[in-house]
Amino acid sequence: MTEETENFTKNFTKKINELFIDPKIFTYRFSCKCSGECCYYGVYTDLKEHDKILELKDKLLPLFDESMSKDLSKWFEPPEEDEDFESGVAVGTEVINGKCAFLDKNGLCTLQRLANLDGVHKWKYKPLYCILFPLTIYEGALTIDDEHIDRLKTCNAEQNPSTSIYEACREELVYFFGEKNFNELEDYKKKYLNTLD
Ligand code: SF4
Ligand code: SF4
Repeated sequence: MTEETENFTKNFTKKINELFIDPKIFTYRFSCKCSGECCYYGVYTDLKEHDKILELKDKLLPLFDESMSKDLSKWFEPPEEDEDFESGVAVGTEVINGKCAFLDKNGLCTLQRLANLDGVHKWKYKPLYCILFPLTIYEGALTIDDEHIDRLKTCNAEQNPSTSIYEACREELVYFFGEKNFNELEDYKKKYLNTLD
């Protein structure tokens, strides 16, 4: 564990599935009402996700429009080491025409469109960090991606949102943790919020 990791997680007391939980997710107010500015910067995929996306190329290419590159060599940045990724290697998607290589001209993610067409779960082909945002995994903890939120103009732009980021991301968290671990997270939320009363 690095010194930076210890500093970031030192006040976190709860771990689920080997992941620390940043309790700020229960109180941070958030609403998702824009049309997808978070996809304008691309995303870091795990090496395995990158490989899986390339395997889907024959089904993806017919869905690409003229604002996207059909040249596979332009879809990803060079790989880099990153311990927050399952395989230890992260590969960023490229930004093409001011948006992720997989975002179409209508603001739709082609990976999700393909999943819908294939009749599988809508997030089956999507990188984990796309599913989780505005949450993220940083230094071994589930936390808020405030760095990315802050640089976006239309993300969480509503004044005084009525929901927490946890509630806004409930479906994603159930998907990520599975029912059993999500219930543990829910219990932790209740206990944590009680300590604030
Ligand atoms: S892969 Fe899809 S969801 Fe993720 S940033 Fe690109 S377009 Fe957006
Ligand atoms: S997460 Fe933020 S940037 Fe992405 S669609 Fe929602 S409000 Fe927009």
